[in-house]
Amino acid sequence: MRAVVPNYELTTPASLADALALLKNEPGVWKPFAGGTDLMVLLEAGKLPHRNYINIWHLDELRGIEVNDTHVTLGALTTYTDVQSDPVLHNEFPMLCEAASETGGLAIQNRGTLGGNIVNASPAADSPPALLAYDAEIELVSSDNSRWLPYQGFHTGYKQMQIGPDELLARIRLPRNTRGATHYYRKVGTRRAQAISKVCFAAVARVDDAQISETRIAVGSVAPIVVRCLETEKLLHGRKPDSETIQLASETISRDIAPIDDIRSTANYRLQVTRNLLADFIRVIRG
Ligand SMILES: Cc1cc2nc3c(=O)[nH]c(=O)nc-3n(C[C@H](O)[C@H](O)[C@H](O)COP(=O)(O)OP(=O)(O)OC[C@H]3O[C@@H](n4cnc5c(N)ncnc54)[C@H](O)[C@@H]3O)c2cc1C
Repeated sequence: MRAVVPNYELTTPASLADALALLKNEPGVWKPFAGGTDLMVLLEAGKLPHRNYINIWHLDELRGIEVNDTHVTLGALTTYTDVQSDPVLHNEFPMLCEAASETGGLAIQNRGTLGGNIVNASPAADSPPALLAYDAEIELVSSDNSRWLPYQGFHTGYKQMQIGPDELLARIRLPRNTRGATHYYRKVGTRRAQAISKVCFAAVARVDDAQISETRIAVGSVAPIVVRCLETEKLLHGRKPDSETIQLASETISRDIAPIDDIRSTANYRLQVTRNLLADFIRVIRG
């Protein structure tokens, strides 16, 4: 069923300030429209409930990848194609590049944005596990304010998040602390390309004196939100990456995730795949 297009309004403000003023002056009336790759699917299906959209695609203030000594900062409108063509991201944040290369096909990669992926808040989205494992922070801006918050904790429940009706997601910031770390990203879907994840696993780790000194693990499609596996991370800290650790971690990770049966998979399959990927990650750390 197709939506009746005249029922919708799309406005194109001249600047970020104008977009934010609109959000502030008519709270809840307007919503952002970035690449439109999630929104247009709903529109086509006649399932796009909201009627008034602000086109933010042309706002240069929300674009660009900046690198300084401590961080890489990405505008919310950074596309998957932008991600894949950035050399610093390739060297230091390869899981984000892998996620981008496995997101949709070329048309989606040219148009879909990281900001849209985050705010669309699908638990099966492919960039959020990498962003969580890299300890990303996000900037929310309104007419009156700008605030940075850890990405971890931004999503509070299925499609629930800490963003006000007058705010836009403006930037995503990654700390440049990944040199020498092991990066491990796997997307498991029905097929190799153009699949929605059944499980998406992203993890980084450091080993000192044959012990895991630091690790961050995030998994998608196994809970109402993409989750950080904090209990498993705690267990791994200070342990050798050996078979006993694999066994214990495999038991522990079932408490970090809450998979369900749905049209793409079963809870049992998701749990087993998550355990297999965790075991593989620990073997990769061991080298
Ligand atoms: C064929 C196809 C394949 C796909 N494959 C994948 C895949 O493999 N993996 C995956 O993760 N996703 C996939 N997607 C989903 C989609 O492409 C991504 O989620 C994309 O990143 C959305 O970005 P967008 O800019 O198009 O968002 P939009 O559709 O413009 O917006 C999505 C939501 O985010 C909000 N929003 C957007 N930008 C902002 C902002 N800056 N501040 C506040 N709110 C904002 C919008 O209001 C809307 O609610 C696919 C989609 C299609 C159609």
